[in-house]
Amino acid sequence: MKMGLCSFCLKSGILCQKCLAKVKSGEISELDLKIARILLSLEEKYPSLQNVYFHRAFETDGTMAIVVGPGDVPRLLGYGGKIVRAIGDETGKNIRILEHGVDDRKFLEDLFAPLSIMTINTIWLPDGSTETRVILRRRRGSHPSIDVKALKEIAIRVRNITLRVEFAD
Ligand SMILES: [Zn+2]
Repeated sequence: MKMGLCSFCLKSGILCQKCLAKVKSGEISELDLKIARILLSLEEKYPSLQNVYFHRAFETDGTMAIVVGPGDVPRLLGYGGKIVRAIGDETGKNIRILEHGVDDRKFLEDLFAPLSIMTINTIWLPDGSTETRVILRRRRGSHPSIDVKALKEIAIRVRNITLRVEFAD
């Protein structure tokens, strides 16, 4: 796993001046360090993690979003979902894997996966601000645990997008 810390600091857990400055400035958060350590501890068992670039982590009460580099999402979702389950067990949260640098549509697709998105449009409010309306297709059969409130909060934190979420049959 790679990230904004040098590999020595990442592996040793002791931060050099340069890496310490990134933590102090908030470029890398305590939560990022915690998730980085978990990812690192899983590398031996799941070698595909070695090539993952970890950007940042964001958490709400029950949900954790992990933002990784372009093309890295499948590396984390592989192994039959075992990596995501391991991170979930470690943190006690429902884990969402998101890709850095994608457009809004791709971001929302990853955020709400495995539900599929029917429509995305922008709503202009009287005060000049906007909301993004997402209409999700209801799934037949068993429902994955999707916490809409938590995902709306993640969308604000990660992308500064205010969501209005609706379901269609
Ligand atoms: Zn360092």
